[in-house]
Amino acid sequence: MEQKALSCPVCQSNKAEIAGENVKLSGRFEDKEFLTTPLTVLRCTRCGYYMFFDNMAQFTTKEPSDES
Ligand SMILES: [Zn+2]
Repeated sequence: MEQKALSCPVCQSNKAEIAGENVKLSGRFEDKEFLTTPLTVLRCTRCGYYMFFDNMAQFTTKEPSDES
């Protein structure tokens, strides 16, 4: 499994494995169903926490740029 450097929000571990790529999540809000854009899913190798990122996300040891 490919590993990327990042920080788990739960245990602060910087190791995670890719659990899925181009994953779309579906759900329902009020009367409407929705489908997310494709996501990359990372799973923390220490605590198992799942993290979701859009496909534009870059996983490096550097601070992510503020792109709001
Ligand atoms: Zn964790």
